Parts: sequence; C-alpha cells; structure tokens
Amino acid sequence: MAGGELVFAPLGGIGEIGMNLSMYGVGDGRQRQWLVVDCGVSFASEDHLPGVDLILPDIRYLVAERRNVVGLVLTHGHEDHMGALVDLWPQLRVPLFATPFTAALFEARRLSEPGAPPIPIKTVGLGERLTLGPFVIDFINVAHSIPESNALAIRTPAGVVLHTGDWKIDPTPLVGAPTDAEKLEALGNEGVLALVGDSTNAVRDGRSPSEADVARTLAELIRTAPQRVAVTTFASHVGRIRAVADAARAAEREVVVVGRAMERVVQVARETGYLDGVQEFRTADTYGYLPPDKVLALCTGSQGEPRAALARVAQDAHPHVTLAKGDRVIFSSRTIPGNERAVLRVVNGLVAQGVEVITDRTHLVHVSGHPRRAELLDMIGWVRPRILIPAHGEALHLAEHAELARGAGVPHVVLCRNGDLVRLAPGDPQIIDEVPSGRLYKDGALLVNAEDRTVASRRRLGFSGVVSAALALSEKGALLADPQIELIGIPEFDAAGTAMAEIVHAAVLEALEALPKPRRRDPESVTEAVRGSVRAAVAARWNKKPVCHVHVLLV
Ligand SMILES: [Zn+2]
Ligand SMILES: [Zn+2]
Repeated sequence: MAGGELVFAPLGGIGEIGMNLSMYGVGDGRQRQWLVVDCGVSFASEDHLPGVDLILPDIRYLVAERRNVVGLVLTHGHEDHMGALVDLWPQLRVPLFATPFTAALFEARRLSEPGAPPIPIKTVGLGERLTLGPFVIDFINVAHSIPESNALAIRTPAGVVLHTGDWKIDPTPLVGAPTDAEKLEALGNEGVLALVGDSTNAVRDGRSPSEADVARTLAELIRTAPQRVAVTTFASHVGRIRAVADAARAAEREVVVVGRAMERVVQVARETGYLDGVQEFRTADTYGYLPPDKVLALCTGSQGEPRAALARVAQDAHPHVTLAKGDRVIFSSRTIPGNERAVLRVVNGLVAQGVEVITDRTHLVHVSGHPRRAELLDMIGWVRPRILIPAHGEALHLAEHAELARGAGVPHVVLCRNGDLVRLAPGDPQIIDEVPSGRLYKDGALLVNAEDRTVASRRRLGFSGVVSAALALSEKGALLADPQIELIGIPEFDAAGTAMAEIVHAAVLEALEALPKPRRRDPESVTEAVRGSVRAAVAARWNKKPVCHVHVLLV
C-alpha cells in the first residue's frame, strides 16, 4: 500500500469517558507525521481524588513528537474534548483547528481563566475540508448535545478513517442540522478503512428520543408550573437552552440566566447565530423584580457543583435568586456517574425548602447526546468499515460496541487501550507497540503526575490522620526533654476513655526503652522503632493505622 503505515494511538478516552485525545500517524517509524484529534479533561470526584478538580492526559509522547504534528483538530466544544488545551497547548504549540462555535467557545472559556496564555485557534467552516500534511480532513455534521459536533473523515494515502467524535441520530435536533447520513453513506461507498467510534451508549438498546420530545415535556412542565420555575442543564447544551426559551415564551415567562458558564455560552451562541430568533434573556439581578409566575431561572449546577448557581439557591445563599414552597425545579440533565451525592445534596436542599424537583427519573426532561445500539448499527451500515475501534467508553461500553460490530459483520474489531499503537494499514490491524501514556492531575495551579505520591498520600491522610512525634536525644541516646506529640485527624479518646495522646506518648517511651543503647544513637533506628510502636498502639485501639512522622534531634 502507498504511503507506508497508518497508525492510531489514543492517549486518552479509551477505557474511560473523558480526556479524549487521539493521534493518527502516517509514515514509517521515525518518519511519522501526526494528526491529533481533541485534547480533553476528565472530572475528578471529590472523594476519590481529594483536592483535584481535573484529570488530563499525560502527553509526554506527543510533546516528544510535536515537530511531526501537522495539527490538532477539535471535534466539538465539550470539556472532555477540549478542556485540557489551556494547560497543555503551551507544551505543544501546534496549529489548532475548530469550527466557528467551538472556536468561539474555546476562546470564551480561555478568557475566563485568569492568566491563561493566548492560544491561536483557526476556524474551519462547517462542512469544509482541511488539508494538513498527508491528511485531508472533512468535517461531517453530526447531532450531539452541543452545536457543531463533527465526525472527521480523515483521508490518508493508506486509507480513510472515520473518527465519529460524539454523535447521535436526531431528526429534530433544535439547533444545527441532523447527522449528515448522506455524506456518511457516500464515504462508505468510497470505502472506509477504519471507524473509530463513540461507545458511550452501546449498552442501551433502540434509539434515543429526540430533542424535540424533550422540548415538548419541558413546555408542558413550564406551562403548568404554579409559581417560579428554575431549569438547570449543561451550560453548553444550546439546543436545550433554546427549548427552555421557547417554552418560557409560550408561558409568558422571562428567562433569567444564572451562572457564569451559562452566561458565557449564551453569549457565544448569540454571536454565532445559534439563538437567532430567540427572545433576549435577563440578568440575574432582575429576578427579584419579576412576579413568580412570570419568571424562569436558567441555572448552572446540574451536576451538583457546590459553587454553581443551583447549589447556592438550594442553600438559600444566592445573592439574587431564591425559591420557596410551591416553586418547581427541573433537572434537564443526567447525573454523570460520580456526581450522584453532590446532586442529591442539591435536590435535598431544594426539597427541604418545599420546592418540587423534577428529574429524568420520572419525566422525559433529558436525552443523551450519544448513539444507542440501533444508531450504532445505522452508522456501521452507512460506513461499512473494514476495521472498527470502539472508543469514548469504559471497558463495558467498548466491549458491547465491539460485539455489536462483530455481529454486524465488521471484519476486524480492535479493542485497544490508551497508549496502544495500533497499525491500521498495511495488512490486518494489529497493536504493534505501546507509547507512554497516563494521567495528570490539575492540583491547584500545578500539574502533577497521577503516579506521584502527592494525591495518594493526601487520600491516606484523609482516611487515617497523622501523628507527629519530636524527640531530642543526647549523643548517648538519652531523652533530653519530654517528647513533643501532635495528633491531626485522630480521635481524641479510645473506647475506654484514655486520651490517644497519652497512648502515643507511652508508645514512644516504650519504643525507646526497648531499643538497645547503641542503636538509640542512630536517628534512623529510633525513627523506625518509634513509628512502628506508635502505629501499632493506635491501631490496637482504633483499628486504623495513622501516618506517623518522627523527628529525631541529636543534641
Ligand atoms: Zn460531547
Ligand atoms: Zn465526549
């Protein structure tokens, strides 16, 4: 086959939902030229990774190869596809491309981060073609839960790859055009070597309902609301914002936008034409002046984010927006796994105030932006790929997508993992190598490697606290003063009522006494003995072993 090898190397997004980053390489070995698709984040749940908000892909390999990177293309503007760029692009400095809405949203997001570096992003028109080195890329419109989601048809000398990005089939998506089946079928007729596809909903049978179905439910719930209404949804879901705005207008309610992320998206959507014909919205400070049956608050915080608008409303701590008995809150969203407790906290806060809470558990107030099984089969039927690689999913989603593809007669189905280097051509597909991959944590202002001990030790501290003991010893190993002991995060008393500090104190002295004289002069031996004794003594009462720091001062 002409053009040497064609390879696929995912650095994120396979085996997980989040932090999507794929690399496609053309050429042999060291001569490869790379196209990068997406550069996203995952969100950390508070309990698992204390103090960490974001997880980013480790791009060591990409940085090493950056001179051979012809460009980085964004499929769409969701955070799991572009959220890592502000932190990682400065290490790459490769040309960046996106369609108008995605580019505008990216720029607005970047400006919202204090100190973010300028990042040039080139705009590609909808449905346009982009040529980058040996890659000729067509942007194919697909329906999703944000405007301008694109599947990428990537033509290379070794064959065509369809990278689906996030998509679904929706004949009435409310914003943008439906998924471009015609273009996909034409691509199939041309011959597609490999399909790298969204597996998020591969466990769900049938087809997902349309945004128009959701709009009808919302209109009914907003029309029949006796007093105030608040709706929360993903800020970037412009189609949903449009549905809410239409429903509000029909019910003669003003839409008040609450929360910065929502304000930002509304502004970008106005600038790019996705809210054309939609009435003007009001700012949060007007909320209090509108009669209860004439207002609708469109809020951020559908995932229970503690600093977002709805969480503050639920705690009665929002400066402008309040709710009371008889008001109605609609969660036009789905709780992302890991956020259940945070969402429940907000729901309980609202219910405790007498507010009626409506979720997708009982009403069709949300649909997913990802394809279910019948839709996946449509895509396979249109494109008829020789190879299918399930992506954008956890292990279960990938396996289900793989089985579905095999059942549909796709000749080669490749299950791979982040860091695998998959040869797509020539010959049968095969995992031929592994490239460095992993995760980074955004920890305050810093990026730390997930394999560093930082966050693991923080988790351990959270679980079992710290004992710190300081000992001053003479050269002969005699204690010169009473040991200084400090306990952090440890119960004050044991079950018998003895102070834990006393127990630790006794354990320190016992350890010293048990130590032969010559070894008492060796700070390391002392440290070792004291730590063992303290941890055993605390564990005997508490059933948990604390972290123990021993400081030995030889005077
Ligand atoms: Zn998406
Ligand atoms: Zn996604």
